[in-house]
Amino acid sequence: MSLSCFDLGERMLSVAEARAATAELVTAPLPAEWLPLEALHGRVLAEAQVSPIDVPQNTNAAMDGIALAWPQAGAPASWPLVGEVLAGQRREAALAAGECVRITTGAPLPPGADTVIMREQLDEQGGCVQVRHPQSVRRGQNVRKAGEDIARGATALAAGTRLGAAELGLLASLGMAGARVHRRPRVALFSTGDEVTAPGEALPAAGIFDANRFSLRGLVTEQGGEVVDLGILPDDQGAIVAALSDAASRADLVITSGGVSVGEADRVRAALQEVGELGFWKIAMRPGRPLACGRLGERATPFFGLPGNPVAAMVTCLQFVAPLLARLQGRTEPLPRRLTALAETSLASRAGRVDFLRGVLASDAEGRLWVRSTGRQGSGILSSMVAADCLIEIDPERAEVAAGEPVTVQPLSDDLC
Ligand code: AMP
Ligand code: MG
Repeated sequence: MSLSCFDLGERMLSVAEARAATAELVTAPLPAEWLPLEALHGRVLAEAQVSPIDVPQNTNAAMDGIALAWPQAGAPASWPLVGEVLAGQRREAALAAGECVRITTGAPLPPGADTVIMREQLDEQGGCVQVRHPQSVRRGQNVRKAGEDIARGATALAAGTRLGAAELGLLASLGMAGARVHRRPRVALFSTGDEVTAPGEALPAAGIFDANRFSLRGLVTEQGGEVVDLGILPDDQGAIVAALSDAASRADLVITSGGVSVGEADRVRAALQEVGELGFWKIAMRPGRPLACGRLGERATPFFGLPGNPVAAMVTCLQFVAPLLARLQGRTEPLPRRLTALAETSLASRAGRVDFLRGVLASDAEGRLWVRSTGRQGSGILSSMVAADCLIEIDPERAEVAAGEPVTVQPLSDDLC
């Protein structure tokens, strides 16, 4: 059965059905472009990166000290010192069995050498080196083998990998000056509602400042998107149709918040139906419903109409929009990321829906991960998102979580920007 956004009607959907249906909105990642290393942070690889070299390039010393050629007959207590190899140098002349050279960390072992002894365990006298505890030396110790980190021809990073600090360092260590990555999704963002007022303006008597455009901008940016901020939609159907059509022609994804609940002055809903093919959903989750979803305009641009309540807007963005942004960029790992933690106290929930509580994680001395609620959980209480470092996800099967029971959590990481 295909779960299309548009033929689900207005029945109550499970979170799983909503996830499956929204996933259909993106069938392929955005095109790739080549970018230099400096511009790759947060981007997603469009192709696997195969190492052109062995890393490390040479078998080398892991310590400052001596490199020696271990004789067949066993190690002597004193080694003739026949030279020196510093980092950046290479000695082509082979060591004869029983000889050693002074060596610094990272310097290539000369031919014949197979073992390194650290400087602190040595004494030098008359062109020979004495080892203080020869019985503790093992043949092959303190040597990093060529290619032991990454062999030439091996896949260093898979396609779909998001490039953070470690990945950038790795690409650089392979000598790559850049890579092909997927284009960042352009995300058009609107707020809706007559009461919604831009920060910086005077707050009307019945007004509310526009929180969503900025919390959603933050989430979209963290997920690798590029925001096109289209402001607050006027309460005028013609203007909404024009703005949405224009956004759909320019953006890879369009997001609005507010104005999609049943029984509202339904201009947004009516306008949306004029511009696209949409479903209006009630999802069995809290906070979260209602949600509109579908495609807009000739380019069939994916669209999300998120709830107006600030916490609901963020939670639905994290559950449904973030995975699509990941797909648009070719990311392969499953999102959202989940862990299991033990509930510090009992957590209220209701069977038949997924409850997303705002939570705070802590580990104890035994290494167990605990989670507690941030307190009041109203879907307008944005300070609960500020206090939280995770969402607690309580399955529809559970009517309550007792203290000490395991529960699923989704960490709210400061993702890459
Ligand atoms: P709605 O989904 O339009 O019915 O809005 C639900 C609640 O969220 C109402 O109290 C709105 O005032 C509030 N709301 C809607 N949009 C925003 C916004 N951009 N920022 C803050 N609150 C909002
Ligand atoms: Mg509204």
